[in-house]
Amino acid sequence: MSSIYNFSAGPAALPPEVIAQAQQEFGNWHNSGLSVLEIGHRSAAFVALAEQIQSDLRELLNIPKNYQILLLPDGATYQFSWVPMNLLRGNKQADYVNTGVWSQKALVEAKRYCEVNIVASNAETGRTTIPAQARWALNKNAAYVHYTANETIDGLEFSWLPNVGTVPLVSDMSSTLLSMPLDIKHFGLIYAGGQKNLGANGLTLVIVREDLLGNALPLTPTLGNYQVQAENHSLYNTPPTYAWYLLSLMLRWVQTQGGVVVMAERNKRKAEKLYRFIDNSDLYSNNVDPCCRSRMNVIFRLRKPELEKKFLLAAEQRGLLGLHGHRLVGGLRASLYNAMPEAGVDALLEFMEDFEKNM
Ligand code: PMP
Repeated sequence: MSSIYNFSAGPAALPPEVIAQAQQEFGNWHNSGLSVLEIGHRSAAFVALAEQIQSDLRELLNIPKNYQILLLPDGATYQFSWVPMNLLRGNKQADYVNTGVWSQKALVEAKRYCEVNIVASNAETGRTTIPAQARWALNKNAAYVHYTANETIDGLEFSWLPNVGTVPLVSDMSSTLLSMPLDIKHFGLIYAGGQKNLGANGLTLVIVREDLLGNALPLTPTLGNYQVQAENHSLYNTPPTYAWYLLSLMLRWVQTQGGVVVMAERNKRKAEKLYRFIDNSDLYSNNVDPCCRSRMNVIFRLRKPELEKKFLLAAEQRGLLGLHGHRLVGGLRASLYNAMPEAGVDALLEFMEDFEKNM
């Protein structure tokens, strides 16, 4: 069979080099005679891996010294609770920008802990654009402002950084972190689940400015307390060690590719090619405002929706997998994270063109 390309939104494709290395050293990690899965998380070898992750992340994303890097257990959904629990700091209000399914979920969860002010929303207008900041109703007394940098399901992405003055800016970057350079000091906190650009599910990365720590709500579970996790180097309990290991391979892979600048150039080229093709086609369509189209998750529909099943089946037969849209919105979606090579997008375009000709 010719190449297989995995367009899944997450868990998502891993680079072949990462799979090959993980496979090769699975049973004998660093000549220990053991698998990395069999090694204690407090062993010198594993602690060295943890330190390597910290320094590679700091280098790749240029993370300043006054930010802590936490590797927390489980998915990004946990952060929907941990963020308010840790960042309210005696305040009772927080600002949320509602731009899609994920920001909506985050704000619903936050309502358990505080008064949520929705500063802007596209829910009533079909989720096709991101409201301009000039129209946001920011609350200067908010403990923080939360937004979702890339809406994985709705196919919307911020191409600009919100400016919220001195109020800490919090961003869910689950489906965009490491896809481009980032000005970390603009943020109070960034979080990202593992299963897109960071390797595997089971861990969520949190990058948080140190002065925001140490004031969690008393009912915060120990594992969700950022201060406790920072003091324990994210090793308070047994972490998902294999996910940490895969993250370490992913970081090295990004480095060998040339870092996040090269990733950004590649990701831009891939997405532009696909959107250009969709916009010029009579069969495929994408109704997201061009200003806010996601580089990571390209959603599209067929003008003849009854052909979508046939499209997915034919795509699978060509080795193009995971192209279905999220179950909540349907349609089609091609996720183009760092690990998707340009050749994968070319193969998809060739298939889409053939399908349109032959349908
Ligand atoms: N936020 C965003 C932007 C996501 O894409 C996802 C998952 N796709 C989540 C949060 C939730 O992640 P998890 O399922 O790992 O909890």
